[in-house]
Amino acid sequence: MADKKTRSVIKKARKHLTPALVFHTGIVVEEAEGVYLKASDGRTYMDFSSGLATANLGHCPPEVVKAAREQAGRLIHSGCIFHYESEAVLAEKLSRITPPGIDMFFFSNSGAEAVEGAVKLSRFTTGRQGIVAFLGGFHGRTTGALSLTTSSARYRKNYHPLLPSVFHAPYPYCFRCPMGKERETCSTDCFAYLERILVHQITPGETACVVIEPILGEGGYVVPPDDYLKKLKTLCSREGIMLVADEVQTGFGRTGKWFASEHFSLKPDIITLAKGIASGFPLSAVGASSRIMSRWPPGSHGTTFGGNPVSCAAACATIDTIEKKGVLSNVQRVGSHAIERLRALQKKHPFIGDVRGLGLMIGVEFVGKDRAPDRATLKKVLDRCFKKGLIIIECGVEKNVARLMPPLTTGIEEMDKALDIFEEALV
Ligand code: PLP
Repeated sequence: MADKKTRSVIKKARKHLTPALVFHTGIVVEEAEGVYLKASDGRTYMDFSSGLATANLGHCPPEVVKAAREQAGRLIHSGCIFHYESEAVLAEKLSRITPPGIDMFFFSNSGAEAVEGAVKLSRFTTGRQGIVAFLGGFHGRTTGALSLTTSSARYRKNYHPLLPSVFHAPYPYCFRCPMGKERETCSTDCFAYLERILVHQITPGETACVVIEPILGEGGYVVPPDDYLKKLKTLCSREGIMLVADEVQTGFGRTGKWFASEHFSLKPDIITLAKGIASGFPLSAVGASSRIMSRWPPGSHGTTFGGNPVSCAAACATIDTIEKKGVLSNVQRVGSHAIERLRALQKKHPFIGDVRGLGLMIGVEFVGKDRAPDRATLKKVLDRCFKKGLIIIECGVEKNVARLMPPLTTGIEEMDKALDIFEEALV
């Protein structure tokens, strides 16, 4: 039986919040610190979802709270009426940490808005209309971004027609090869399929951009083979197509580097950023080279709230803290430790088909007979974890992948505590 506060909050939420919103748990949180949530039911939970891969420094990191408080006491809003320091300083900081060549930014509020901006930037500057995205990708829920999103047809249901001239290529998901191959027989037929799209459905000369998550997020935490993104970049450069890396989920240290593109030596033409950028304050960005941005003239895009002074101050403090605390090396160390432990569990439990990921973006895929996706067993395991105070959510087109995305400050001890719970829940 839930406590009085939980009952009252849930009652109001049920009455006045749209049922379209899905909450992953039924708890009401009073306070949060680091990986821990304190709920009104008196219990403490470990948040291994980081509030959907966003609280990268844990909940309420003191450095970010301080910077946001200070900024809120001085200036909360500009609406592009005047300049202020935090936005300019943040743009400078981002130009230092984003992949080579990216040195100008447009700030907005959410990941979807950044994707919309990237599509508009590539269409405007190439004068072309076509967009290529990938099956299983998630790029947001606004109508333009949703036209690219295919991690579930449920998100698209009853919203057709979406944007025209959006074409989808298979994502290189080697555990479930979309072309029916095995790793040993792979000749990147999925890449050949993408090339055929540019023969059969839209000419390269009409294609503005290819939008890809360097590691598939919502679609199942899938790491592409090493050479795939290189090939994609070569194709895009040859045809004058903008390569957009959607780093909304993979960015800001999640994979053990500032951005996942770095793992593949990928230099995207355009990058989209959100989620971890400001430790939970709403902020997103489209980044590109000044060469590309200079072809987007004044007034061709705009915003009221984008680049909010408080969010920008929080983002500056987030970047500084990641650097000062050596967070990237922590992610590499704790991530490798977790993958090693999970691979040992895979040997014991046949329903764990695959353990994959980079840094603290780790997917554990549950399978049944003949590798069939096993959503039911995963659900049981995650329900047991929750009862023991550990929040892990799922991903994957079939919702059969546990996604471990704890705060990047999670230490070995906390990781072990969570993995002990996960291990018990498997039995
Ligand atoms: N792009 C990627 C890769 C994402 O993972 C998400 C959200 O999960 C989005 C875009 C959309 O972000 P938002 O929910 O902030 O609009």
